[in-house]
Amino acid sequence: MSLPPASAGITLSSRTPTLGAHQTRACPNSLLRHGPWVLSCYIDFALPLHEKTLIARIRGQARRSGVLLDGGTGIGDDCAVIKIPRGHEALVTTDFSLENIHFRRAWHPPESVGHRCLARGLSDIAAMGGEPLAAFLSLALPPDLSQRWVDGFINGLLNLADKFKVRLAGGDTAASPGSVLADIVVLGSVPKGTAILRSGAQPGDGIYVTGELGASAGTLSLLSRRKTKLRPSDFPRHFYPVPRIEAGRFLRERKLASAMIDISDGLSTDLRHICDESGVGAEVEQEEIPVAGIGRSARKVDFGIALHGGEDYELLFTAAPGKRVPSQVAGVKITRIGRIMRGRKVFLRERDGMKRELPARGWEHFKLARMGAGL
Ligand SMILES: [Mg+2]
Repeated sequence: MSLPPASAGITLSSRTPTLGAHQTRACPNSLLRHGPWVLSCYIDFALPLHEKTLIARIRGQARRSGVLLDGGTGIGDDCAVIKIPRGHEALVTTDFSLENIHFRRAWHPPESVGHRCLARGLSDIAAMGGEPLAAFLSLALPPDLSQRWVDGFINGLLNLADKFKVRLAGGDTAASPGSVLADIVVLGSVPKGTAILRSGAQPGDGIYVTGELGASAGTLSLLSRRKTKLRPSDFPRHFYPVPRIEAGRFLRERKLASAMIDISDGLSTDLRHICDESGVGAEVEQEEIPVAGIGRSARKVDFGIALHGGEDYELLFTAAPGKRVPSQVAGVKITRIGRIMRGRKVFLRERDGMKRELPARGWEHFKLARMGAGL
């Protein structure tokens, strides 16, 4: 979805338009068991705090963090009014963070869950070469959740918002029958006509990634095997991933990238997305793929995890042969891992020199959920 360029500002609705707090106690219990109604019924007495109190508390936290101080209107009106820089186009992205699909309360501190919730949206803006402007958070909370958990979640989200000067400009709260559900919408902008799409890769282009791959999925693998919690500071790329906004901006400003995507589903799947959208194939070299080390010992994760694991939030991009891609951007390493080919197939050249077709085996939430893997 894209919004029209607006030099004088655009208006976004940040609340479900047909339901309001006055309807809360009329919401019948039977609706709680039937699909999306659950998300739309405001049962304010069931939230950790009364809805108005909770919103006031979030507003206070946002104000204290400074992310509400840059002009425009935000929390407190029916809609947020957001100014888009003159000559820019709007970028809009939305992402769910669902308990037991994307996080577990037993494994992830609330600050990490809030941080990761916003990081997912910011990473999508980075993938287009854009600048983030504002975020909208819809939060459904189970009645047994502590207010301390909610405060931690909001603080984690706001700390990341502050780092990238993103305003928390609106959202919604509702009761959930059993688990935490968060949906983040991030609004960004990019100079008109310069957004980096997935569809621009050409045969002969080099394929590059920022950072290292597999740290997040490798940490998840440890979490699922161990009974004890991990120390988040030892595994920052999983608990507190940093979206590559600066790297994306650099690539857009220098016109280096012909196509780009963020690695949220895993290298094999996200490379497939670029190939599908561009109508090309690809060949990547096992030897060149930067495999992440995790934990205090920086032990390398398995190659399969680097290849297929999700939630790296690194950037995967292609660049024409004549482009000089630096080996580092904004303190982040950039590695050439292969090249775009004619055809539609994706191959992996293994260390023994053998070339094998690379299946897209990345992150599939619903498949994992069905398998009972939880995350
Ligand atoms: Mg993405």
